[in-house]
Amino acid sequence: MQRWNGWGDEKINYPIPENAKGYLADILGDEQHLPDASLESTISKIPRSQFDNVAFISTDPVDRIVHSHGQSLPDWINIRSGQIPKATDGVIYPNSEGEIKKAIDFAVENNIILIPYGGGTSVVGHINPPPIGTPTLTLDLARMNHLLDLDQYSQLATFEAGIKGPDIETALNQEGYTLGHFPQSFEYSTLGGWIATRSCGQQSFFYGRIEDLFRGGKLVSPIGDIELPPFPASAAGPDLKQIILGSEGRLGIISQAIVQLQSLPQFEDFYGIFFRDWEDGVNAVKEIAQKGIQLSMLRLSDPQETETTLVLSGKGNLLPYVDFGLSKLGYGEQRCLLIMGVTGDKTSSLKAKSAALRVCRKYRGLYTGNYVGKSWRKSRFLAPYLRNTLWEAGYALDTLETAVPWDKVDQAKKTIIRSISEAVETENQRVLVFGHISHVYQTGASIYITYLFRRSADPQENLERWQIMKGAASQAIIEQGGTISHQHGIGQDHIQYLSAEKGSLGIELLENVSNFFDPQAILNPQKLFNSDQFKQ
Ligand SMILES: Cc1cc2nc3c(=O)[nH]c(=O)nc-3n(C[C@H](O)[C@H](O)[C@H](O)COP(=O)(O)OP(=O)(O)OC[C@H]3O[C@@H](n4cnc5c(N)ncnc54)[C@H](O)[C@@H]3O)c2cc1C
Repeated sequence: MQRWNGWGDEKINYPIPENAKGYLADILGDEQHLPDASLESTISKIPRSQFDNVAFISTDPVDRIVHSHGQSLPDWINIRSGQIPKATDGVIYPNSEGEIKKAIDFAVENNIILIPYGGGTSVVGHINPPPIGTPTLTLDLARMNHLLDLDQYSQLATFEAGIKGPDIETALNQEGYTLGHFPQSFEYSTLGGWIATRSCGQQSFFYGRIEDLFRGGKLVSPIGDIELPPFPASAAGPDLKQIILGSEGRLGIISQAIVQLQSLPQFEDFYGIFFRDWEDGVNAVKEIAQKGIQLSMLRLSDPQETETTLVLSGKGNLLPYVDFGLSKLGYGEQRCLLIMGVTGDKTSSLKAKSAALRVCRKYRGLYTGNYVGKSWRKSRFLAPYLRNTLWEAGYALDTLETAVPWDKVDQAKKTIIRSISEAVETENQRVLVFGHISHVYQTGASIYITYLFRRSADPQENLERWQIMKGAASQAIIEQGGTISHQHGIGQDHIQYLSAEKGSLGIELLENVSNFFDPQAILNPQKLFNSDQFKQ
């Protein structure tokens, strides 16, 4: 069963390795066990739903609690302390497009807010009911999880949008195909959610981002449906798919999506390479990206992330030997770990690997085989479980990301990290911050930042600390010319920063599109942009 107040399956745990406990205590302060609110006490705090007697609406309190938050740090702080700023009044589980339309009609006729919900893995407050008096219903697409059509000849598949990552891969793998979209939230996030948030999978360098895989589909809106045929390419005016991508539930419900497939790869492997410092590592990944060497993944950790990852990997007993060996070879405290993946047919994969290693050697990269890569692959979807155990040991963890052109990568990462550290310095708070490059493009790269701090017993204080650090980092991102989100979207947490990159006219355009599809502003209001007034 899925945890109601944390990440993933209740049966799966990722314990903090013994040696990592001391490491975290030294940096952040001692482990502490602060009590979490029980499910019973959380249930007792949510008000009665006015939809208790409507046949197609679930008002089960656990259902309502689970659907009132996502996986952002403020969500965690609230849910773990039994506070739900606003609970959804009920959940609808449509089985078909007809039932989606029925739900929309019900919401329109009764002036009810309707929040489309995929897997609930949003980390920026996409699915939380807005804190206003208007009743809210959540439309969970979990039952719309079928493969509708597989066109092997054209390599296209049509899925209902509520299908989750593992079910997509199971359906395709048995026919010899893959979608190749593997965000770290893969096990729980959905195809519709990926499209609505412009998600990016871990092997985007090979398979592409979701916008490259999304070929067509259907949007069901309050004023009618939009059907998008899967043209391989088109010069027929602006591409309407681009309006749906990143629409965050504001325009309508993506009921089905047509995606492009790849044959299952014959070969796949991941390798570890150490660089003496960040600069060498960045130069190597930039050159690999710009030479178009066809790898499937490049993930370069900075020195702090390299150290923390090795400590948290559970291989603590090996670390002193690794440390000694690497230091002797000149890979000391500033060393950076690159994990590089190859995917495809064996010959071209090994050719790409050799070409990439040639570039790495040019920048003094030390190839260490596939041991580190194997352990990364093993824990690629397990790592988020560490968030549960860290929380239970008294530490809060949050992540954020941006993308900038290559000439800004170094400065932007430094500035974001410094802004987070300095934000809490005056209050004598300690924070552990590190970063990596996880997605590379010809012209630039994404920067992914993780920060951890020791929690206070007071949830309000934790929310304030988060706000200070997140605010400082977001401001730094804007000042450095980065996008406010490379992959997580806008939700409610990034709203105030969107106009910095879209401009006021751009925001107005988005508002007008939203007003067109949803004249009453019932669909997920106060997400993406906030100027809409709920129209009574
Ligand atoms: C541990 C963890 C790791 C993550 N790793 C990654 C990663 O590697 N890459 C990445 O890109 N993201 C990642 N994320 C963020 C998150 O998983 C993505 O934003 C994901 O795309 C959300 O999908 P979902 O199905 O859970 O959508 P939800 O969270 O349920 O919804 C997100 C938004 O999409 C809208 N929506 C959902 N379904 C539909 C639909 N059918 N029609 C219209 N609107 C819809 C919702 O209204 C909401 O605005 C991670 C999150 C977590 C918690």
